[in-house]
Amino acid sequence: MKALSDIKKVGKQTLSLLHKLSIETLEDLLFYYPFRYDIIKRSDLKNANQDDKIVIDGVVGTIPTVFYIHRNLNKMSFKLSCEELLQVTIFNRAFLKSHLTIGKKITVIGKYDKKHHQVVASDIYLKEIGNQIEIHPIYHMVYGLSNHQLHQIILEALKEDLLLEDNIPMVYQEKYHFLSKEESLNILHNPKDIPSLKKARLRTKYEEMFVFMLQMNYLKKDKKNKLGLSRSIDRLLIDSFVSNLPFTLTEDQKKAVDQIYEDLTDEKRMNRLLQGDVGSGKTIVAVIAMYMNFLSGYQSALMAPTEILAVQHYQTIQKLLEQYPIKVALLTGKTKAKERKEIYRDLENGEISILIGTHALISEKVMYHNLGLVITDEQHRFGVNQRSNLKNKGLTPDILYMSATPIPRTYALTLYGDMDISNIRTKPSGRKDVITRVKSEKEIRDVLEAMYEQLKEKHQIYVIAPLIEESDKIDLTNVNDLYEHMQKAFGKVCTIGLLHGKMKNQEKEEVMDSFSKNEIQILISTTVVEVGVDVPNATMMVIFDAFRFGLSALHQLRGRVGRNSFTNYCYLISNQEVERLKIMTQTNDGFKISEEDFKMRGSGDLFGVRQSGDMEFKVADFRRDFNILLKAKEDSEEFLKENFDDPICQKIIGKMEHLD
Ligand code: ADP
Ligand code: MG
Repeated sequence: MKALSDIKKVGKQTLSLLHKLSIETLEDLLFYYPFRYDIIKRSDLKNANQDDKIVIDGVVGTIPTVFYIHRNLNKMSFKLSCEELLQVTIFNRAFLKSHLTIGKKITVIGKYDKKHHQVVASDIYLKEIGNQIEIHPIYHMVYGLSNHQLHQIILEALKEDLLLEDNIPMVYQEKYHFLSKEESLNILHNPKDIPSLKKARLRTKYEEMFVFMLQMNYLKKDKKNKLGLSRSIDRLLIDSFVSNLPFTLTEDQKKAVDQIYEDLTDEKRMNRLLQGDVGSGKTIVAVIAMYMNFLSGYQSALMAPTEILAVQHYQTIQKLLEQYPIKVALLTGKTKAKERKEIYRDLENGEISILIGTHALISEKVMYHNLGLVITDEQHRFGVNQRSNLKNKGLTPDILYMSATPIPRTYALTLYGDMDISNIRTKPSGRKDVITRVKSEKEIRDVLEAMYEQLKEKHQIYVIAPLIEESDKIDLTNVNDLYEHMQKAFGKVCTIGLLHGKMKNQEKEEVMDSFSKNEIQILISTTVVEVGVDVPNATMMVIFDAFRFGLSALHQLRGRVGRNSFTNYCYLISNQEVERLKIMTQTNDGFKISEEDFKMRGSGDLFGVRQSGDMEFKVADFRRDFNILLKAKEDSEEFLKENFDDPICQKIIGKMEHLD
């Protein structure tokens, strides 16, 4: 296959922008799928309401007039004749004037002012839309590269002679009448109609899930993978450790500890999932597990999904182990070379007993003296790959996965058939539910007043919106606008911070840090804060356009507050009534929410916001697409059994073993 730089329109600068999106090869580029599609369809003005976003075609009725307001701002106006005579205004498109001759057929997209027969346009196409629909792929972007530019580059790449590896065996391609891989790739990036887009997505989802389930099934079969370490652990020492904790364990915590003790002392390898809501007290269970592992003479590694969380775990754990002769170290991408070297050395000679960090812990060339236990926080982010990765190092440590997005048991068993599960359902006493209310945008005053109450109490607030910047095509709240609004409302009484995915890591961390130090009182953010830090003083979560989020995402976001003894609130702002939001007001129990989420799966629309945090599929969503997963599971089991030597099978298994 050609190199990325061989593609037309990819110069040096573009190349470095693509790198920022982790696109390094032509394949990366082709598999950089849109995360959403905008559908452009002619509106019916009769049924449109004041301030609706409309798409309307018609003919230019008057010669446009242009005003230059200042150097970077111009305003153009003209009349469009369609079902009515509309006054169109658009900013900064003076360059279109020469194309907009009287009688020219065009399409205008914008906000409809029904009362005054006006539209403030965000876009003008120099053609009619008629009865057609247009589907525009929308990609996650970086500054400096527009959605349009990236789309053009991908279209160029698609012209290449592609030799794509297909992971779906022929039998299943035929069984389900799937589109070919090339075809579906073309459609994903350049859809013409919804039915074919659905087909292309179905094929892609199945492929992702087939690969995943085949790897899972392979690991399940692999007997060698199941033999663990034998060890003896003095139960009395554990009991005394537990009784020295500043609190008493809850019943569920105790049970989890017992189960882990059984697992570790058994010669069978531990492969356990510890599920519980945020704040249910999983971390302490993990610490006890690491203490057991220490007592039996082995090292532990704890992996967090982000650097911020790794640091937090490190601080908590160090404190808890203060009085014990256990050396704990932190290894992240930020660790300085000199310190890193020392850590490598002390790991290898066995002086460090507990290493905490990001997945660098196992993917780097880190040599352990005798790694006996690996714990991952938010297991969805660590796939089967890491598991076999350890195996390749000749290590068979026990494994504990922690997850704050509980999956109902039946589903968990389907996904991870070979895994044991401990659930922590009860929260430590003293924890109250977060009071949750749904408000429409018209009721925003109530929300602002409630925010003001919290600020008066010197508490902190998270405000979440789905978008970063204004989008021409969809009418959703974005954090930039929100920042301005909040600045107007509260700028005098507190400091407001802004956080989103396009910021550099360092900037993000600085903002998070200021928020945890209470230098910032209102943090406006996209969902990057989802797997975020622990700021106990935050008592309120406000989520704009809440209908855009899935139940688990909402629950995760709400879990950012309620980490204190105050009364905590969550406001879900939405102009659409959806069942999900009602469920949120009724329960704080992550297990119940997860079950509801599964019950409703399939009801989510094709073009909704992807839920984050669940598995590492690009297109598939294991909740919404659970039926596809079931098929993929069945098929991959069959394929593995009957066609183990098939190149596709070997390739998929090989893939997980050759990751470094
Ligand atoms: P999780 O990891 O499940 O999100 P944590 O382990 O961070 O939750 O626990 C949240 C908070 O509750 C921590 O401050 C922890 O010290 C505290 N905690 C944990 N278990 C108990 C308990 N049994 N009683 C009281 N507080 C507890
Ligand atoms: Mg945790």
